[in-house]
Amino acid sequence: MEIELDIAMIRKLVTAETQQAGNEIAELGPLRAYQASLQRHDARLAAAPDSHTLDCKQGCAWCCYFTIDARPIEVINIIEAMQSLPTIEQERIKREAATNYAKLELLPVEARVHQNLKCPFLVGTASGGCCGIYQARPQTCRNYHATRAAGCQQSYEEPDNEDIDPEFAPLVYQTGTAHVDAFNHAMQTAGYDIHVYELNSALTHAIASRETFVNRFESKQTAFADLDGDEAPAELIDI
Ligand code: SF4
Ligand code: SF4
Repeated sequence: MEIELDIAMIRKLVTAETQQAGNEIAELGPLRAYQASLQRHDARLAAAPDSHTLDCKQGCAWCCYFTIDARPIEVINIIEAMQSLPTIEQERIKREAATNYAKLELLPVEARVHQNLKCPFLVGTASGGCCGIYQARPQTCRNYHATRAAGCQQSYEEPDNEDIDPEFAPLVYQTGTAHVDAFNHAMQTAGYDIHVYELNSALTHAIASRETFVNRFESKQTAFADLDGDEAPAELIDI
């Protein structure tokens, strides 16, 4: 979908978020700074002028079968959020993430996005489910939205069909992307790993070697010793 960028809004948001996030990373540390940034992220999305056009609503979860990426700080936040879930639920999530990871690992990269694997955090089904870690869901999930849930359902039902357009809200998209770009730019400037990793593989590795993962991240190395991340494009940081 072609959209017209609101350059003034993007520049203002990027400047404000980069500065505030940079200050909070220095003062609070990366995890508390990330959690504070999530609050601003949600508030900015809700305030976007076209947010009323979204078809997203509680229970609608077709998008929870699409591929999700996460950065190391998001994985740390998710693991912290998991501690408040019942042990039986934590074990189910670990099992489902490991099963998904095992399936994905065998596939070529280009085939992975067509698998329709249920996110391990989804409680319920695509047509009636909710996120078990809603407050800690990754930035990718926060930014994914549509003005036509039927398009998301069609993508779920036809995972190989790349021509479906669920139609995004342009200002919600720009707001969310600018916010995420700015926060991650501040993290990168502070020296932290901002590579993106597929959620199931990152979670499985992080839980299996939690101390090593956290130590590597906090000492500003690439967070996973044995998992390669991707450089996510910062789409709106330099406009
Ligand atoms: S992005 Fe699509 S599937 Fe996800 S909540 Fe919104 S309308 Fe529903
Ligand atoms: S983390 Fe939550 S919102 Fe994101 S895909 Fe999984 S269940 Fe859906």
